[in-house]
Parts: sequence; C-alpha cells; structure tokens
Amino acid sequence: MKRLAILGSTGSIGTQALDIVRALPEHFRVVALAGGQNLGLLQQQVEEFCPVLAYSPVAEAAPALTCGGTSIASPEEMAGHPDIDLVVMAIAGSPALSPTLAALQAGKTVALASKEALVMAGDVVTKTALEHGGRLLPVDSEHSAIWQCLQGEHGHDEIDRILLTASGGAFRDHSVERLERVTPAEALHHPTWRMGKKVTVDSATLMNKGLEVIEAHWLFHLPFDRIKVIMHRESIVHSMVEFVDGSVKAQLGMPDMRMPIQYALTHPARLPNQTLPHLDLARLGTLTFGEVDMRRYPCLLLALEAARIGGTTTAVLNAADEIAVERFLGGDISFLDIQRLVTGVLGRHQPTHNPDLEAILEADRWARDQARKALM
Ligand code: MG
Repeated sequence: MKRLAILGSTGSIGTQALDIVRALPEHFRVVALAGGQNLGLLQQQVEEFCPVLAYSPVAEAAPALTCGGTSIASPEEMAGHPDIDLVVMAIAGSPALSPTLAALQAGKTVALASKEALVMAGDVVTKTALEHGGRLLPVDSEHSAIWQCLQGEHGHDEIDRILLTASGGAFRDHSVERLERVTPAEALHHPTWRMGKKVTVDSATLMNKGLEVIEAHWLFHLPFDRIKVIMHRESIVHSMVEFVDGSVKAQLGMPDMRMPIQYALTHPARLPNQTLPHLDLARLGTLTFGEVDMRRYPCLLLALEAARIGGTTTAVLNAADEIAVERFLGGDISFLDIQRLVTGVLGRHQPTHNPDLEAILEADRWARDQARKALM
C-alpha cells in the first residue's frame, strides 16, 4: 500500500491519478490532496478519499474541507510529510517548483507531471534530489516512454540519442496565414490527447515539445544535441531510445495519460487495470513518422535556443510562455503573438549562469512582468 499526496488533484493529471487509485484501491491510500481553483471538485474528492491533509488556494475554503480528522496543510508541508511515500506533482506551471523542492529535500519520491519545475530550475532540482536522496519519476508520456525503454539497460553511456515524438498539435495541417486567425477554442482541440489548457495550447505551438526536450535533458542527463524531436501524428509511439549499437527501443500505447500516471504510481510493478484501453496495431494499420518543419513551429526553435543558452534563460522562456498563453486564452493576443511575445521577452533578458533558486525566481518574476506589459 503506497501512501500518496496528490498535489494539483483537481486538474487533468490529478483527476486521472485519482481514477487510477479508484481502479486499484487495494494498492493506494490518498493521504493528502491539494486542489486548484475548483473548490467544489476538491470538496467531493475530500469526501470520497478522506485524506489526512487537504489544501485549497481559495481563501476561506478550509471549513469546507473536512472528512473526519482532515486538517489543512500547505503543499510544501504535504510534500515533506513523514506519512507520504509518493508525491504526485501535478500542479500546473511554476507554482509546482516550491513543493517539488520540499518533497525532494525530504528525500521523497516524486511522480513529476509538472515539467515547469525542471524547465525553470533543472540544475537546482536535480542537485536537491541527489543531495537528499529524493527521486524523480516521469509522468509526461514521452519521458515515461524513455524511462520504460531504459529499464534493464546499463546506463547512459550506452544511449546514443533520445527520439521524442510530437503529434504536431491542433494546427498541424493549417497554413501559416490561417494561424493568424485561430481562436482559443480551436487551439484547445488537440487531435490525439486530452490534457489541461496550458499544455494543449503549448502542443499547438510545439513549445510543449521544446519544454519536453529541456525536461528530458535533466531527467536523463543527456546533452541537447542527443535529443531529437520527430513528428508522429498518431501519438502511439510515445518516444524512443536509440542505443550505441544502433538498436532502437520504443514504448507504445494508446494516447491516454492514465497509463504513464499508473506506471509512475506502481513502478517497479505493472498491474492489470481493466479501465485502461488496449492497443490494437492490426486495426490501426499504419504509424507515420517525419521530420519537424521548424518554420511552422518557431516556439520549438525558441525553446531549443533557450536550452542552449541555459542559466536563467529557460525560466524566462517558461514564464513568458505561461503569460503569453494566458493572454491568448483570455482573447487579449493572437495565437501567433505567443511566439512574438516570448521572442521579445527573451531578447531583453540578460541571463545569469549557474543561478541559485533566488536568481531563478527573480528571473521568473521579471519575465512575467515583461510578458504582462508587452503591447502586441
Ligand atoms: Mg508530453
């Protein structure tokens, strides 16, 4: 029985993590739940799972979160709590960083869905894990695939490169002219995956794939020139590892986030779960692969360039993109303005190399402020 803290329990990953707990109730006990803005849903979750600890960012929510002896604790307190075996980190965006560090400082295992923590502060996060005996398990489908491909292998000298697959997102068949006029509703319609809003828009710009390259660099300790993005429209091959002898291992499955979530929760075991879909390759027939047309996806180029510069640049990229996507979803800027806004903020940034946490948070605040003020 693993004792779980689910941070971000009302979001897309959090609700699907609870689906896994419902399907495998004898394997998990939900000890802590931290929700987002959806207080009604959090209240239902607290009633259903009766956690020891609960948290809501909504002011005055505390009296509503009771089930027997439930008490209120911050996400950081939950993450480091002695009664927790595994922290599911599914808080959207940069607020994930502080509780991720708290969990690792307490030597916990973190199933990490929030790639922002590694994009902002990969060096600080991985050093904290190493220093305190904490462990990061990937939840992002691509990184889960790479992790699964590496099971039973000897180590990273034997990896030639990682092949990260990309579906191309909602607008993969649109002309560049047409992209100027696309709406938030259209951007939120992903062709293969059901995910949160921010990551779905990031999938349409391919910023998400750029953030995933940075995430893969920190999780698997490979230089950026050995992480390659390839197009794969069907989202069935979740990523691949090519080894030094030329052999390639791939992990396949239906595009359903519950599968990588379950693997992180049950690792090193695999458990049967009747609620998960099975892959029928004979029925699918064809899987396609191709090069990414970089002209169509300037956000991917921006992310790769930020990764190459390093230091505080990736935190600035992440913060500027978060605000740009928020402004696009709010109807304030156009879809193509996302890349223009992020380009502008990155162009004004003076990077700090080997930054500590304070320098990273300062760069994050600066970039948010710049991105909010930018006139498009
Ligand atoms: Mg992904």
